[in-house]
Amino acid sequence: MNNKVIIFSAPSGAGKSTIVNHLLQLHPELEFSISATSRSPRGQERHGVEYYFFTADEFRQMIAEDKFVEYEEVYSGSFYGTLRSEVERIWAKGHVIIFDIDVQGGVNLKKIFGEQALSIFIQAPSVEVLRERLIGRATDTEEAIERRVAKAASEMEFADGKFDHVLINDDLATAKKEAEEVIETFLNK
Ligand code: 5GP
Repeated sequence: MNNKVIIFSAPSGAGKSTIVNHLLQLHPELEFSISATSRSPRGQERHGVEYYFFTADEFRQMIAEDKFVEYEEVYSGSFYGTLRSEVERIWAKGHVIIFDIDVQGGVNLKKIFGEQALSIFIQAPSVEVLRERLIGRATDTEEAIERRVAKAASEMEFADGKFDHVLINDDLATAKKEAEEVIETFLNK
């Protein structure tokens, strides 16, 4: 099967980026899909590396021109979306696309790509563990942590039964190994 995509979704703190980066290093044929967003760049973020950055007006214009495979207003006034041109760019190289996208976006992409897609939901072992990880990361206030935990709990509920594979990230080494196996089976199909 050609033109494949792999979709990763997870609540924050589940360890998604670590697992995705591990797989990208292991498989040179995998390529990360760079999303478009209307939020401002943070820190060292550059246009065309972490995201394609646009103003909200430019983003709305591109929606009107049907330039997106999917998009969402993730936070009020902040749009995020996958450009059709990005999908074509990666497939033209014969690469398999990796999406790192929120839970709703992941479900939407799976509906769009169907059998061409492998969708993986990464889950923390429990809400309690997730809370401890976010506290350990020490980047958020107590209130922000509780907000993220509540969002994660509802995302876990929403995701139930909507992904091809659920990967429970209890032990990172085990989760990486399991991700490798699921992906290799899919790539060899
Ligand atoms: P951040 O602003 O922290 O980079 O991302 C905010 C949220 O937007 C994350 O949950 C991220 O997964 C989601 N996101 C990033 N790119 C896309 C996209 O192309 N489409 C959708 N629907 N969500 C995205």
